[in-house]
Amino acid sequence: MQRNSRCRFCNSGLNHTFVDLGMSPLCESFLAMEQLNQMEAFYPLYVYVCDHCFLVQLEEYVSPKDIFTEYAYFSSYSDTWLKHARDYTQMVVRRFGLNGKSYVVELASNDGYLLQYFVCDGIPVLGIEPAANVARAAIEKGIPTLIEFFGEKLAVDMVAEGKRADLLIGNNVLAQVPNLNDFVKGMKILLKAQGVITMEFPHLLKLMDENQFDTIYHEHFSYFSFISIEKIFAKHGLTLFDVEEFSTHGGSLRIYARHTEDTSKPISEQISKLRNEEEVRGLTRMEAYFSFSEKVKETKRKLLEFLIGAKRAGKSIVGYGAPGKGNTLLNYCGIRTDFLDYTVDRNPYKHGKFTPGTHIPIFAPEKIKETQPDYLLILPWNLKEEIVSQMAYIHDWGGKFIVPIPELRIY
Ligand SMILES: [Zn+2]
Repeated sequence: MQRNSRCRFCNSGLNHTFVDLGMSPLCESFLAMEQLNQMEAFYPLYVYVCDHCFLVQLEEYVSPKDIFTEYAYFSSYSDTWLKHARDYTQMVVRRFGLNGKSYVVELASNDGYLLQYFVCDGIPVLGIEPAANVARAAIEKGIPTLIEFFGEKLAVDMVAEGKRADLLIGNNVLAQVPNLNDFVKGMKILLKAQGVITMEFPHLLKLMDENQFDTIYHEHFSYFSFISIEKIFAKHGLTLFDVEEFSTHGGSLRIYARHTEDTSKPISEQISKLRNEEEVRGLTRMEAYFSFSEKVKETKRKLLEFLIGAKRAGKSIVGYGAPGKGNTLLNYCGIRTDFLDYTVDRNPYKHGKFTPGTHIPIFAPEKIKETQPDYLLILPWNLKEEIVSQMAYIHDWGGKFIVPIPELRIY
């Protein structure tokens, strides 16, 4: 398909499809009852891979100004995240000898869930967060926060005020940046001569291995392999000197970067190890990317086949969870109330609302005890162990769990 799109990193023409998930609404735009009769905005969830730099990407169908100015996700609501943040803080303070004279800047600092731990250690911080509501929550907690989108211009202004970072953090933000080069250029400017950048993001290799196509949303413009991120940083004079792999978000990378001219930090052997692994797995050849799309279609066929069979056998099926990724899956597979009677979520903000596009009603989890469904389709599969143990009581009435990804499994 030719849409005359260009790669957001290297500006080559984009001619190759990674996966086409059809048309979908924004995955966090849950509907109130009175919106069900109104028009709903759908955008293509059409993903390209660049044959020059191998960056997997979506076009910017929706501007971040529309998505992120008021954002419903507060990081501090998740215990797992808070622990991850505290462990990170302790490690990085020790490893790079941060103290009261250091300056830590976090891009997309959300509600200050991470910077609060540096504040406790007496280390000066600054958060930069464009979503005004979450930024205000951080400011109320005493964490200095600028309500701005980050890029070259803001970095230049900050340096002019004498602000440069010893540690520059960006977790789960790079995917959401439409102008990637402007953002990384800004980081180069803001970083002190011997400063360190750390960034975390979902790893494309894991997305492909484990068939996590439902983690593709309009809000995430780019999907990074280690090889692609290394090229992007190198272009802006930044060198990756260490990398770690984590299980968060289905499999994430944490990269460590420094100025290319700063030779005080040696390059860890993890760097060549991961680069080689990706090369062996074919991430520098187009064939590996082309095979993903077929895997995704087969996942849809298998899930629908199972759901159709269960409905024909007179079984009742409901969902568990209403996460963003669930909405990609439901819309792509065309699963509505013809298959799922309802779904449940622990977040009270979603109760009484309906899933975007598919209009499945969302209730509190207690509803499951009342209706005793035969099957529970787990949408946040990354939390499946936790959910299976919390909801084990569905076995009392013969209920079973359905996990759709990486491949269909019934528990
Ligand atoms: Zn490219």
